[in-house]
Amino acid sequence: MAKLSLGDLEVKGKRVLVRVDFNVPLDKETGEITNDMRIKASLPTIKHIIDHGGRAVLVSHLGRPKGEVVENLRMNKVAERLEALIKIKVKKLDDCIGPDVEKEVLAMQDGEIILLENVRFHKEEEENNPDFAKALASLADLYVSDAFGTVHRAHASTQGVAQFIPAASGFLLKKEINFFDKILHSSERPFVAILGGAKVSDKIGVIENLMEKCDTILIGGAMAFTFEKARGIEVGSSLVEEDKLEVARGILEKAKEKKVKIITPLDHVVATECTSEAERKIVDRREIPPGWKGLDIGPQTIDGFKKILAGAKTILWNGPLGMFEVEPFNRGTVEIAKAIAETNAMTVVGGGDSVAAVTKAGVFDKISHVSTGGGASLELLEGKELPGISALTEKE
Ligand code: AMP
Repeated sequence: MAKLSLGDLEVKGKRVLVRVDFNVPLDKETGEITNDMRIKASLPTIKHIIDHGGRAVLVSHLGRPKGEVVENLRMNKVAERLEALIKIKVKKLDDCIGPDVEKEVLAMQDGEIILLENVRFHKEEEENNPDFAKALASLADLYVSDAFGTVHRAHASTQGVAQFIPAASGFLLKKEINFFDKILHSSERPFVAILGGAKVSDKIGVIENLMEKCDTILIGGAMAFTFEKARGIEVGSSLVEEDKLEVARGILEKAKEKKVKIITPLDHVVATECTSEAERKIVDRREIPPGWKGLDIGPQTIDGFKKILAGAKTILWNGPLGMFEVEPFNRGTVEIAKAIAETNAMTVVGGGDSVAAVTKAGVFDKISHVSTGGGASLELLEGKELPGISALTEKE
């Protein structure tokens, strides 16, 4: 059965508690917001509520305050940025529950916006404490979940609260669910997945589930070296998860049975150290010298991956293809971001680093869907049910 969504709700005159994901990156020195993609992504939901005469009570976490008030993790800067983007006054409160909050919320008029304080200042949030969830729910008539980035967590504001008042998905959450549903259940073939990043261990579940759905899996990043070593290829000092070699072998075997191609890089950019100044060279996959480490995919690999991507109808990308924080080892990741953007395929990109790469490559707007949730998208791709989605009210 389908879940209730924002479009099904009559919000006029109602207080709507919206769990947004305003967990934005902050500059360590100045405390300024360095990327407001997540705030922008929540605007359609907030606008819909206020345009239809609802009263939006927004709640989010920011960073990891671990159940204590941390001054530089207050939501003040977020409130300022939201106000600038939505061009309506945003009243920021100093807590998210309690009598003062209740008073402010009860005094709201139609079309007004309140942003509550960082919900993780209370340890009960992550404990999914039912009394805390009830206190949050008591602030509103309706609950809307739009925080895709945290729907894989069973916390009070993402799951617990939905036990007490009607709970619907917001537009962002609905869009995220629809794209991943399409990817997993009705993707046009050929379907090519590109996976990168440091660890195979984080992506085992994803690879296993994708093997049932896609035609080709391109592997880059440090993850590739665990597969190479599992095949008996020398990888020098490249990052390898020694305890996952068996798992990698198992995945390669299974892929063969399922006739899914798992393609690892043909060549690598290797260096003696992971710095921009270090000596580096391009080598064939079988020629990584001892003491050198692979830090990016090489030019032949970029060309090969591009050709495969050009023929795809569906592309899913998660994880950088090299040590992309350090130039010039970002080249493979940026080139692949551009190649994905140039295809006519349905393209879905998830994971913080890949999202940063499509932004840096200037192709963000050419991707069909850039996901706002790294962990949540991986769990959906593993085929798991996510607590913040399961908790929503079924549509009658
Ligand atoms: P993950 O969190 O697993 O998605 O991994 C992301 C991290 O993997 C980024 O910090 C990348 O710099 C890192 N990474 C990607 N490729 C390599 C590589 N070849 N060697 C070392 N680290 C890498």
